[in-house]
Amino acid sequence: MRDGSSIPPVIILGAGLTGLSAAYHLEGVPRVLVERAGEVGGKARSERTRGHTFDVTGHWLHLRDPRMQTLVQRLFADEAVPLARIDRVTRVFSHGALLSYPFQANLHGLPLDVVQECLVELVVARERAARGEARAPATFEEFAVARFGKGIARHFFVPYNTKLWGMNPDQLTADWVSRFIPIPDTAQIIGGALGLRQEGLGYNAHFLYPETGGIDHLPRALRRAGVDGHADAALLLGTSVEEVDVDGRRVKLSGEPDWRAYGALISSIPLPELIRRAPGAPPEVRAAAQRLRWVRWRYLNVGTRAPVPVDYHWVYVPELRYPFFRVGVFSNAVASMAPTGRASLYVELNERAGPVDERAVANALVDIGAVARADDIAFMEERAVEYAYVVFDDAYAEATRVIHDWLARVGVRSCGRYGAWIYNSMEDSMIQGLDAASWARRQLRSPAGGRA
Ligand SMILES: Cc1cc2nc3c(=O)[nH]c(=O)nc-3n(C[C@H](O)[C@H](O)[C@H](O)COP(=O)(O)OP(=O)(O)OC[C@H]3O[C@@H](n4cnc5c(N)ncnc54)[C@H](O)[C@@H]3O)c2cc1C
Repeated sequence: MRDGSSIPPVIILGAGLTGLSAAYHLEGVPRVLVERAGEVGGKARSERTRGHTFDVTGHWLHLRDPRMQTLVQRLFADEAVPLARIDRVTRVFSHGALLSYPFQANLHGLPLDVVQECLVELVVARERAARGEARAPATFEEFAVARFGKGIARHFFVPYNTKLWGMNPDQLTADWVSRFIPIPDTAQIIGGALGLRQEGLGYNAHFLYPETGGIDHLPRALRRAGVDGHADAALLLGTSVEEVDVDGRRVKLSGEPDWRAYGALISSIPLPELIRRAPGAPPEVRAAAQRLRWVRWRYLNVGTRAPVPVDYHWVYVPELRYPFFRVGVFSNAVASMAPTGRASLYVELNERAGPVDERAVANALVDIGAVARADDIAFMEERAVEYAYVVFDDAYAEATRVIHDWLARVGVRSCGRYGAWIYNSMEDSMIQGLDAASWARRQLRSPAGGRA
């Protein structure tokens, strides 16, 4: 492959869902999948300990695209583990009440003065919009106030997102939200405030999940179908890309003395990491990469020795007095994710660094009713994700444009949640892998190697 007599392979950096999907869709094309970790899956991996199964917090599969529905059906047809279709059960814990989700459509149960404030401010915002006085929101906070009014913003969107992002939502743009935030109409909001349940709103009213638990069945199935046993595919686990030479069209991998030539390069590793490894990037691209910001995630895997007194799959916890913003119960979705009579939970923490006060977390879990007694908690294990959410701030649009323009000029496809530097789902990542595979096939056919 490297003697110049044949076209070099497509090299794919990262074996998360994007890289695996790219490899799967490159059937018939020589390809090498390079993964730093000892296993495939990236964020869609799972861990199993003491009979409990945990994902990297909630990883529920929502499929909207018919191509992905067909793909996943095909993948799981050969799997010993079928997929279950689960109706989402989510709640919001606020002012001591367990509300239906979403908050903005289910105000019933909150103290009456809070309900009144939310409704009055909703009317103010919607009248302003009807008079044509609402300007396009510049920040996420302005978006929330414009759509739902100051009350709902104050009691949910601002505190919840301050905890989730680790910064006030006035520092974020509203670019990422449209698909993910349900916008009920006024009748639904009023109905929800009166106690008429407004369920099923939003993008994710139900989800798919492997029946025996562990979202890692999905990446493993992709690996089996697209890589294992394919003579034209190689998977290098425990191998990191160290340098990318875009002019020489080759990469340097850890543990290998020689460079590897590529016919096309697909990267799904985080964008700042790619640019750091590409010394050929011009100064303006390096400067743009310096402006990219992201959110580190810290969470706890929690195993209980008793059942939990709640039925939800996850609950949003907006109030600042609690040390977490979301708590999920894997075993409420799929019972086998915990031993009989026990539960597996994830707890997404506000603080991104420093020691975790486990006692405070346990007491807060009791306070919101997620566990009956602190003693029911058998263990807590702390985990972190360095790149969890990319930050959509004022620098985002221009910085990503400069970087992607350059990558396109040098014929590198950087895709997936962190390669494209976007907010997306597992399904979106698999679609990006599919699109990258088509792009790579075109590259291999192009005499200029695809460079502009
Ligand atoms: C906390 C959280 C919750 C989420 N919940 C959901 C959900 O409920 N439903 C949903 O659909 N989506 C969810 N997502 C989104 C989903 O995880 C992503 O869309 C998807 O897994 C991203 O896949 P990817 O392959 O693009 O990236 P990744 O999974 O990050 O894969 C990138 C791979 O690159 C590897 N890598 C990094 N650096 C190098 C290097 N130098 N050399 C070689 N390899 C390298 C990494 O090890 C990794 O395996 C969630 C994401 C997060 C963070």
